Amino acid sequence: MAKRVYLLSEARGLSRDLLGGKGHGLAEMAAAGLPVPPAFIVTTEACRQYLKAGEVPGLWGEVRAGMAALEGLTGKRFGRGEGKAPPLLVSVRSGAPVSMPGMMDTVLNLGLTLEGVEALARATGNPRFAWDSLRRLLAMYGEVVLGEGPEVFEGMLSALKAERGVGTDAALGPEDLEELAYRYLRHLEARGTPFPLDPWAQLQGAIEAVFRSWQNPRARTYRRIYGIPEDLGTAVVVQAMVFGNLGEDSGTGVGFTRNPATGEKGLYGEYLRNAQGEDVVAGVRTPEPLERLKGYAPGLYEELLQVAERLERHFRDMQDFEFTVERGRLFLLQTRAGKRTAQAAVRIAVEMAEEGLISREEAVMRVEANALPGLLRPSVDRDQAPRPLLKGLPASPGAAVGHAAFTNEAVERFHAQGLPAVLVRPETTPEDITGMYLAKGILTARGGLTSHAAVVARGLGVPAVVGAEALRVFPGEGRALAEGVEIREGDLLTLDGGTGEVYLGAVPLVEAGGEALLEKLLSWAEPHRRLGVRANADTPEDAQRARAFGAEGIGLCRTEHMFFREDRLPWVRRLILAETPEEEALALERLFHFQKEDFKEILRAMDGLPVTVRLLDPPLHEFLPPLEALARRAEEGDEEAGRLLRRAEALKEANPMLGFRGARLLLLRPGVFRMQLRALLEAARELKEAGHDPRPEVMVPLVADPKEVERARALAEELFREYGPIPFGTMVETPRAALLAAEIAPLVDFFSFGTNDLTQMAFGLSRDDAGKFLPRYVEEGLFPFDPTERLDEKGVGRLLRMAAEEGRKANPRLKLGLCGEHGGEAGSVRFVADLLDYTSASPFRVLTARLAAAQAGLSRALKPA
Ligand code: PEP
Ligand code: MG
Repeated sequence: MAKRVYLLSEARGLSRDLLGGKGHGLAEMAAAGLPVPPAFIVTTEACRQYLKAGEVPGLWGEVRAGMAALEGLTGKRFGRGEGKAPPLLVSVRSGAPVSMPGMMDTVLNLGLTLEGVEALARATGNPRFAWDSLRRLLAMYGEVVLGEGPEVFEGMLSALKAERGVGTDAALGPEDLEELAYRYLRHLEARGTPFPLDPWAQLQGAIEAVFRSWQNPRARTYRRIYGIPEDLGTAVVVQAMVFGNLGEDSGTGVGFTRNPATGEKGLYGEYLRNAQGEDVVAGVRTPEPLERLKGYAPGLYEELLQVAERLERHFRDMQDFEFTVERGRLFLLQTRAGKRTAQAAVRIAVEMAEEGLISREEAVMRVEANALPGLLRPSVDRDQAPRPLLKGLPASPGAAVGHAAFTNEAVERFHAQGLPAVLVRPETTPEDITGMYLAKGILTARGGLTSHAAVVARGLGVPAVVGAEALRVFPGEGRALAEGVEIREGDLLTLDGGTGEVYLGAVPLVEAGGEALLEKLLSWAEPHRRLGVRANADTPEDAQRARAFGAEGIGLCRTEHMFFREDRLPWVRRLILAETPEEEALALERLFHFQKEDFKEILRAMDGLPVTVRLLDPPLHEFLPPLEALARRAEEGDEEAGRLLRRAEALKEANPMLGFRGARLLLLRPGVFRMQLRALLEAARELKEAGHDPRPEVMVPLVADPKEVERARALAEELFREYGPIPFGTMVETPRAALLAAEIAPLVDFFSFGTNDLTQMAFGLSRDDAGKFLPRYVEEGLFPFDPTERLDEKGVGRLLRMAAEEGRKANPRLKLGLCGEHGGEAGSVRFVADLLDYTSASPFRVLTARLAAAQAGLSRALKPA
């Protein structure tokens, strides 16, 4: 039978999948000679087996052997004091292969019994500490293993403080804590879930509870949001306790080897004196910056600097480590690759490559391409900002404006109405994950830069300000107080997660500045990119922005957006209303001049690069006012409105998305087709005559049959004879066009995959209405992700691959592109990187597309043949 329990010394070189991230990190640290308390690891394999069968035969024998080894290494006995030595106590922690901060459970001080308390008191000379240890064990065990709510223990603690007339925990003496421990014991007994006073029973209960915690609701939610597979399971780390709460020369802290918000090199983190375990991460007391250790414990600070240096050299990445100081002696309890903002990710990757710690290729692979738009996040415009209402810690950069919401439910309510919300909490716990995910900003009154709120906000890319101490939040009453000012639910707040400032009302924001480091990273990435990257842009401003982000042309210029502009709309409506060829010709003539100027500006902005213009796509009624408004105006005697109303009623469709639009409209109203194409060709001709280098291309939307393409091509050829030809293509965005790709391909120069419509039609779900139920599908695990965001490789991707391959076979010169929203999503870009010639993304996501395409090229190069 496979081994399921490993001592750290046996675990070196085993996989993270088997040991979990925590166990793996400990084994690596021990191997690197860093001070780690003795521990053993129960593998994820055991967890998976337990969750499947409800037991793991033979496991407890292995656990006992592991514990015997810990006894040997520490010279202490599990749960029993011996002579002057205190009993061996352990922590039992979960550690999944993928980091899930705060999502699963931990029990500290395990192994303590009534007899053990006496031994601990004797050995440390500190009975208060001993009883406090038992009390903490009872509360944690009661919660994690026996399923009692944490507020029950908190309530009993508050009641005792009230009885004793004291305000703080610290004012309780040893007898008080002994009394409290007995109350906890009696409570658990009366509840029918007695606390086991046998250390081995405690150990078994805790290990099984950690196994089960893999399935708890907040862990499931976290996995869903981050796309972590359900079947990994968690490992369990059982480690000899060290105590950070033995006095002023003890403490506990969290360190980062570089700043997780900015990426700046240097030790960074927080320390809580005379505190144990999760106190820092829980954010209940606000810790002090590590810097301060320089003043009162310079030796310790120096030691931490060295530890940080060694961790980075060993792990070759920025590390987030937890440590405890027991009576001046430093122990490392955990290390992992630190979560970081997009800014920090880029800076760390580039600087580590420049320091020679990693290669340039590794640097390119390290940055999450989807996070790049976060780099361009706005901040509060300081010139226009009033005096801030509050100042807290800048935990996650970017500025946000939203309505104050004090609960998950309130955030969800605003979200459902399409309104931005700022989640305001005393502090956050893993229960708040839904609200944090949906909120535009997060504000907490308590906790430091490594509190739950800060860590999770950075991971989610949500701007956050934490530890705003002047804030008092009353979630139950739907209000908060800040410096005497009341904030009610729905009040507008602005926060800047880069400065920590919070304002009442909506303050204007400014866009982020230039990003030299990102440019360097992209310059390393670019040689590995094969896939072209263009932009979706239909204004000269968007075109310019896209070009500045490195777009190599426009892959989709949606011309209808030009029709919606105020000066054109009346002519579009006259076109729709035209009853004679003369009326139609007049409207088209006016629109022609507008279009020609539009195209000239865009072609100029993209001079020398291809610009794919898509002919009109939406159904005509979209250009008319809503029926109800027209009816009202007609009733008031407005004749024009009356005529529009009759037209609008005639054009009304039950399913406009599947109706008279795209190629169908263009072929049956060829005047629009001719007008648009002539405007494009003439714009290009005039620019060329003026010495520019315009590269127009034209494409037809929503075809489903080769006959449509043939007819469209014939229409285009009429004008090509006059102006000379330009590349002519079609969108492939109906499943039938994909199925008939081999017949369509010889008729065109390029395909552009419209994955928005292709997804909508392949799934048979309306992209305008899917928001009402798709999120629930994802929540319930029916879909692994939202296919309107990320390309569904299995279904839509299969259509796309088939059409690409068969199209190219039928026309070897066929060019292939993608221009749906997926064109700027990293996973989708990687999927098409080998299949297509280019992708086209909205301007801000051009950077994501460039990096993702380069990463695809690199991972192809790195893959063993
Ligand atoms: C598409 O369908 O993917 C597309 C790009 O066109 P639109 O979103 O304008 O329908
Ligand atoms: Mg479309």
